[in-house]
Amino acid sequence: MTQGAEEISIVSRKEPGEDKTLDASLRPHTWNDYIGQDAIKKNLAISLEAARRRNEPLEHILFYGPAGLGKTTLAHLIAKEMGAAIRVTSGPAIERVGDLASILTNLIPGDILFIDEIHRLNKLVEEILYPAMESRSLDIIIGKGPSARILQLDLPPFTLLAATTRIALLSSPLRSRFSGGTYRLSFYTQQDIERIIARSAAILNVAIEPVAITELALRSRATPRVANRLLKRCRDYADVRGNGVITADGSHDALELLEIDNRGLEPSDRRILEALIFKHNGGPVGVQTLAASTSEEIETIEEVYEPYLLQLGFIERTPRGRVVTAHAYEHLGLPLPTTMQETLL
Ligand code: ADP
Repeated sequence: MTQGAEEISIVSRKEPGEDKTLDASLRPHTWNDYIGQDAIKKNLAISLEAARRRNEPLEHILFYGPAGLGKTTLAHLIAKEMGAAIRVTSGPAIERVGDLASILTNLIPGDILFIDEIHRLNKLVEEILYPAMESRSLDIIIGKGPSARILQLDLPPFTLLAATTRIALLSSPLRSRFSGGTYRLSFYTQQDIERIIARSAAILNVAIEPVAITELALRSRATPRVANRLLKRCRDYADVRGNGVITADGSHDALELLEIDNRGLEPSDRRILEALIFKHNGGPVGVQTLAASTSEEIETIEEVYEPYLLQLGFIERTPRGRVVTAHAYEHLGLPLPTTMQETLL
């Protein structure tokens, strides 16, 4: 195993508008800085300690849950704890079997391979991964037709850490090979998001009033990445319109300007709720129809908007489709339809 965590990015994802250096500085580098997700942290601590005592690599682990909840950060923390190098890639970046073969054959013993968005691996690549995960062997078919041969290569001991926002899209053979566990990250509590904002503000060296922390946390969709993004927007606002301190009024004004309401909903979330209410009588409506009536991608609805709207209890998923709840009507300041009033009586 190599000493000290070294990160080698096989592919670096570019998120438009995000400042990577700043994001890296806000990313927790110790378990103490990684706030919340206590059950996962406790389980991982045991697995890590057991692997270290046996002087073996950690078993393969899968993390799932909505974007921005800290899956990638966990992978980096694990690598650091194991003193292993982490190789970072993602499902869409591994287009061909040869791409994965080259990644796997370049691993050194004890390495951690992190595959983000693993649900987007294509089937042929996925099949190469099975024997690699199970018996550390790489089976490559050489040639075609009757003269085809299987070439079997031994791989060094390694750990696959993977993340997905769409666990349901993972085939069961792939899921079952994560022998070290599958962990679902949950949305954060208001208190934990407040702690994350206070920590990030200290790193960014910006003064923020306690009431502003609460206000920001309320609108952060219970998600650390959103909390950090809003903090940075409020800092901009405080620098331009104020004296550099993020005050309660300043943060309120900045968030209003961004059209983020007091539950963290953005215009696109409200458009989805309004489409459900006004175009589909509150539902049930299938996600395809909803995507068509809001001009959004189905994937975006399922991965970005829906998890938080479900978490707030503003929509529900039924076998016949999505339905909007009384809470959503209340939040939007709309009268409840008579059918709902009757069921509430
Ligand atoms: P994911 O991989 O689930 O999309 P990331 O691990 O990239 O999420 O996290 C997004 C950002 O949120 C990180 O850069 C980090 O700054 C912050 N973050 C995530 N989880 C935590 C946490 N538990 N404590 C503090 N900050 C966190």
